[in-house]
Amino acid sequence: MADRAATSTMASVRDKEVSSRELNPLEMAQRQFDEAVPYLDPKIPEGYLAKLRMPERVLVVNFPVIMDDGSIQMFTGYRAQHSTACGPAKGGIRYHPQVTMEEVCALAMWMTWKCAVVGIPYGGAKGGVVCDPKQLSEREIERLTRRYTAEISIIIGPHKDIPAPDVNTNPQVMAWIMDTYSMGVGYAAPGVTTGKPIEIGGSLGRREATARGTVFCIRRAAKKLGIDLEGAEVVVQGYGNAGSIAAQLLYEDGAKIIAVSDSKGGIYNPHGLDPNEVLRHKRETGSVVGFPGADVITNEELLVLPCDILVPAALEKQLHEGNADKVKAKIIAEAANGPTEPEADHIFFDRGIFVIPDILCNAGGVTVSYFEWVQDIQFFFWDEDQVNSHLEQVMNRAFDAVIATAEEKGVHNRLAANILAINRVARAIMLRGIYP
Ligand code: NAD
Repeated sequence: MADRAATSTMASVRDKEVSSRELNPLEMAQRQFDEAVPYLDPKIPEGYLAKLRMPERVLVVNFPVIMDDGSIQMFTGYRAQHSTACGPAKGGIRYHPQVTMEEVCALAMWMTWKCAVVGIPYGGAKGGVVCDPKQLSEREIERLTRRYTAEISIIIGPHKDIPAPDVNTNPQVMAWIMDTYSMGVGYAAPGVTTGKPIEIGGSLGRREATARGTVFCIRRAAKKLGIDLEGAEVVVQGYGNAGSIAAQLLYEDGAKIIAVSDSKGGIYNPHGLDPNEVLRHKRETGSVVGFPGADVITNEELLVLPCDILVPAALEKQLHEGNADKVKAKIIAEAANGPTEPEADHIFFDRGIFVIPDILCNAGGVTVSYFEWVQDIQFFFWDEDQVNSHLEQVMNRAFDAVIATAEEKGVHNRLAANILAINRVARAIMLRGIYP
């Protein structure tokens, strides 16, 4: 079923020259893949490329959940594994009304490339359940999670496929998945998920890992461009886990955080904001908006403010043909997944704006998830300094490899990251050969 969907999607992508706005996520992922293919070195035979364009496996599950009022409601969930060429599949699980099979397949493919860019021994996966968690009680979410886990337990496991939190799932959901899986196998299996609470095998430093990885990349990019982070002007869109911690870490580096935003709007102070105070205000009032001494701005205005570093850390598709010409940042550090549309990438490249692409810039999260899994399967835990110093090594090595590829091929950084990642996975597939 998945293969048929993927094949017909591929045909439609190749037949038409359509703007990225009209593509579904899988078509978008396949278009990015096709863009990288001519640069692969050595050339990869077509059969292997065809394999990489499709997910290896997609499981669709329709399952019942007993609701608090005693009624039974049916839910649909997915788990897609794009590749297990380099190791177990790895990727988050999201609970959202708009989850589709195409979306989880695309996200699984992007996870393969993200793991390959940072050189961790995983393939890509993603899962989701079509539901609106805001309409469910905590007990209903627990029952939904446990039943979904039981349904997908035939393909997940510490050595097969390791879920993690994504949109509307959190450490508690990971704990329920870990417990349900462990009940099935008959022993505690912490390595089946990452992003767990510390008490049951979570890793120190995981909460800050995405932002920390982003900041390691920003430091490297700033050095390359000759920008002193001391006093550099920073704008952050989105003030959740990734955005608020990135702002705090950059502030510690001496940067001036001049504007931040959340879903309710943005705040701007050209003299600088204290990100810790802004976070306290957001916790107390529910938004960054209304922070004393700052002007209110819209999210659209925020993205085009004059600054040195722009950190999109909220949603996808924020930077596009319509605003890319007006962006004034020197560095765009994509803490968010998919904040830049392909048309904007070319505009930024032509304008000399240095984009740190998402699969590199926010890979600190999956990297520390990998460290969590390594600790879990060894039952041997690291201190936070060890986690952070290993993360720094991984991010710096990946950053340098992406930039070297971009310079060697004369392409923008996202294409370079994709070329590097696809090359690594394609080589693994060719070395393993085609079974039987
Ligand atoms: P989060 O839910 O903690 O925070 C999201 C923030 O974005 C919130 O402050 C929210 O108010 C804000 N936001 C929502 N809609 C907005 C809008 N229209 N304009 C401006 N702000 C808006 O989520 P997060 O974990 O920080 O994730 C943010 C991004 O980073 C996502 O794209 C996610 O996929 C990506 N990411 C996160 C991690 C991680 O480990 N947290 C890892 C990799 C990638």
